Amino acid sequence: MKVLGIESSCDETGVAVYDTALSGAAGLLAHAVYSQIALHAEYGGVVPELASRDHVRKLLPLIRQTLAEADLSVADLDGVAYTAGPGLVGALLVGAGVARSLAWALDLPAVGVHHMEGHLLAPLMEDDPPAAPFVALLVSGGHTQLVAVDAIGSYRLLGETLDDAAGEAFDKTAKMMGLPYPGGPQLAKLAETGTPGVFKFARPMTDRPGLDFSFSGLKTQVLLAWRNSDQSESTRADIARGFEDAVVDTLAIKCGRALDAAGCDTLVVAGGVGANKRLRAKLQAMCEQRGGRACFPRPALCTDNGAMIAFAGALRLEAGQREPAAVHVTPRWDMAALPLV
Ligand code: ATP
Ligand code: MG
Ligand code: FE
Repeated sequence: MKVLGIESSCDETGVAVYDTALSGAAGLLAHAVYSQIALHAEYGGVVPELASRDHVRKLLPLIRQTLAEADLSVADLDGVAYTAGPGLVGALLVGAGVARSLAWALDLPAVGVHHMEGHLLAPLMEDDPPAAPFVALLVSGGHTQLVAVDAIGSYRLLGETLDDAAGEAFDKTAKMMGLPYPGGPQLAKLAETGTPGVFKFARPMTDRPGLDFSFSGLKTQVLLAWRNSDQSESTRADIARGFEDAVVDTLAIKCGRALDAAGCDTLVVAGGVGANKRLRAKLQAMCEQRGGRACFPRPALCTDNGAMIAFAGALRLEAGQREPAAVHVTPRWDMAALPLV
């Protein structure tokens, strides 16, 4: 089954075709992402209405480009999947409207995908995919969650952030130290040149049991350290390294606890912060030490993309899931409410 996937929940327009007749990475016939970063940069954050309008401009050309790369025409498609939530309502409606219209015109089944289920299942698009049960760490710009995955479609929230998401903490910390928008990846890059241990920040909420996170206090610690420093280039790199180590350690400690709680040894990591090199290395080492494994999508499939939507949608369409033809989105959506696949 060849499924066209459309992602438009925030500031990336993503389109892909996934073919379930081929498994793992081979199934991804083509994918393309257009990032609106430059558009929003001057505002220092995503402007929802500008995001919607840019999705309108870019979505159809991107669909044409993706089909051409896969050497397919619309007539070769067997289904359409689109992000139905959570996300910015206007941005979601653009993707949903285009997806539903295409499906209607081509007489194809269509399915609305939960954006975080898309992230969560992205590692299953790689070769040698893990099988449920496993624990998923979802670390993105808007979410930091530990989820017990008993089966695909059966998600139990084990813990989540009480304030900032990990990606949000990366972005805000970078901004405080004067790094350009969006700061997360830039901060991570800077951290590579920093010296570990020069700045030591807290590992929030690791001194007591539990699987929830809090990153806003860490951000304040960094702000104070930065204000009281000489603000030189090398200090900025050292602080970036101290911050990154604190986030990575905190995530690793909680992942270990979540694996214990769920009684399994497979950890799946997804979402934009999953592209972080130090986090990948740390979680890999932690899982290997336990005799298990950590599974990640390739970095390009950690951040928002259409491939994860095509893949998650394909699993649901293959299982026979169908929805009425209405253009309907769910800007706030609990993943635990999803039906089993
Ligand atoms: P959500 O999926 O929760 O709705 P989102 O879609 O905005 O949020 P993603 O696209 O999954 O989030 O990820 C973007 C986030 O990942 C940003 O906060 C960004 O700073 C962060 N990020 C990307 N690369 C890295 C990296 N190498 N190190 C740390 N953070 C990173
Ligand atoms: Mg984004
Ligand atoms: Fe996302």
